[in-house]
Amino acid sequence: MEADIPDCLIVGAGPVGLTLGCQFHQYGIAFRIIDKLPGPVKRTKAAAVWSRTAEIFDQMNLTQRFLEEGVKVFGASFFAGGKRVARLTLDSIDSVHNYVLMLAQHKTEEVLRTYLEEKGTSLDYNCSVVSVEERDDLVEVTLDNGQTLTARYLIACDGAHSQVRQSAGLSFEGRELESQWVVADAEIEGLPFDDEILLIMHQDGPTGLFPLGDSLYRIVGQTEPVADQTTELAEQAVRELVGTRVQSGNLKLGKVTDAGFFSINERQVDRYRKGRIFLAGDAAHVQSPLGGQGMNTGIQDAHNLAWKLAMVCKGDLNPKVLDTYHEERHPIGKWLVEATSRGTDMLTNRQPIVAAFRDQAARFVASLPPVQNKLRNTLSEVEINYRSSSLSREPAYVGAGWRYRQGIRPGERAPDGLVRYNDLETRLSSHLRGRLFHLLLFDSGRSVLALNWETLLKQLQEHHCRRVDTVLVSTLSANREKLPCPFLEDFQEELHHLYSAIEPCAYLIRPDGYIAYRSQPVDKVELLNYLDEWSV
Ligand SMILES: Cc1cc2nc3c(=O)[nH]c(=O)nc-3n(C[C@H](O)[C@H](O)[C@H](O)COP(=O)(O)OP(=O)(O)OC[C@H]3O[C@@H](n4cnc5c(N)ncnc54)[C@H](O)[C@@H]3O)c2cc1C
Repeated sequence: MEADIPDCLIVGAGPVGLTLGCQFHQYGIAFRIIDKLPGPVKRTKAAAVWSRTAEIFDQMNLTQRFLEEGVKVFGASFFAGGKRVARLTLDSIDSVHNYVLMLAQHKTEEVLRTYLEEKGTSLDYNCSVVSVEERDDLVEVTLDNGQTLTARYLIACDGAHSQVRQSAGLSFEGRELESQWVVADAEIEGLPFDDEILLIMHQDGPTGLFPLGDSLYRIVGQTEPVADQTTELAEQAVRELVGTRVQSGNLKLGKVTDAGFFSINERQVDRYRKGRIFLAGDAAHVQSPLGGQGMNTGIQDAHNLAWKLAMVCKGDLNPKVLDTYHEERHPIGKWLVEATSRGTDMLTNRQPIVAAFRDQAARFVASLPPVQNKLRNTLSEVEINYRSSSLSREPAYVGAGWRYRQGIRPGERAPDGLVRYNDLETRLSSHLRGRLFHLLLFDSGRSVLALNWETLLKQLQEHHCRRVDTVLVSTLSANREKLPCPFLEDFQEELHHLYSAIEPCAYLIRPDGYIAYRSQPVDKVELLNYLDEWSV
């Protein structure tokens, strides 16, 4: 391979391309990011950063930077007929980030871009891709100025109108909704609940108000179709919409900025991978902004793909792992497009009988604890799993107990909990931030000397040290320093409980924090077979 050919070329410096770039930097592979714009722009689009995305930023050691910029919101209130009909609390989301962080998309991009720049990665603006072509073991892109760039892999993060997707001949099936929408940022005072998301169901269409701090709100609402989509008309539409739909005696609407109209497209590409070309974010799926999921899902596309590409480029994993990107992420995108479509149809239905039923149903259904739980864990994206992926594996159980079988399974997000490391309290997740798989060995209070795990560690060290780090999760302090790996004291037995580790067992965690493999008892042969299967 020629020295100056990067491993990966990222097309598009939106939130998805930038996340991928940050992760590639952390994995230490050679990459380049290009964008057709002359420089960063302010986009009045995403405002919600959900829990799973914040956990990903944790893994990238970046969450603190986002928290400094955004506003934590712990609840959402639903209004119909001028009254609050339901309230969704977010503080019991199953995550250490049990809130939604409200942060304008351009600020999210700025945090990611600043990190890259600090690390010496400059973004190449004014590079507009017009075509892509695979040649031998490389992808070649041609820019609008005639220049060509090559890389081993290309990741299209170039948004809904992806030129890469079009040039690669991939179709983007779906529909454009007839409804017209408006978005803006506005200074508002006198709202009934000024630190929550407000969702207002109204006969003229739904409206959402999202607090961005300092009395500034992102407003998104359905409006009447207009032919002439000027900024002035968009601002006027926002003022009318707030005036007629928000019921509050003391309401003061101040400055309105960045107003614009948009329509909703619901589309998905049928293949997330074509040879050496991958699609992520809006280039792969676009959907209604209902629930604020698009950017979050795109960031998770990037997170799913980054470790696979990085470990393949470094020669640490078999390239067949790259097929699991489509296998795992396409169903998530499909579900998202369909679910937000159903929700949007329901919210925009103006037939009086349907609207009346919807408002009553919202009042009743949203008050049920299981519905609340489902809603918050879905919105926060902590429920996403890859149980049916070919990467998710466990051997046939031999004598494993019922609780273990019902416990956390391969493909699910690895639970987090408090442990002690060198006598200091810490969280398991902070020990999983290395860029490898992590093997968690749970001793369930047994002496590790009797468990005979030294040979397993020796073989892992000999054959898989570039892929796997091992950690002992222990409830027996006598096991400290008995194995050549970090010792995490499960002093509250929280992790043993979360992982149903009643007997000694093993969990292999992927670099993106999902469980790849588990076994009880620890099955050395099966585990090594699993690792060999995905190794080069
Ligand atoms: C009103 C509204 C509200 C939303 N709210 C939320 C929310 O709260 N939460 C959420 O998760 N999502 C939300 N979304 C969706 C979110 O904005 C998108 O999902 C997100 O922008 C997708 O990011 P991306 O990086 O994939 O694409 P983009 O943000 O579209 O970035 C693509 C980049 O590629 C570049 N590019 C394009 N073509 C080329 C080319 N040929 N060559 C080189 N570069 C190119 C572009 O210049 C751009 O910088 C909202 C969307 C809208 C419209």
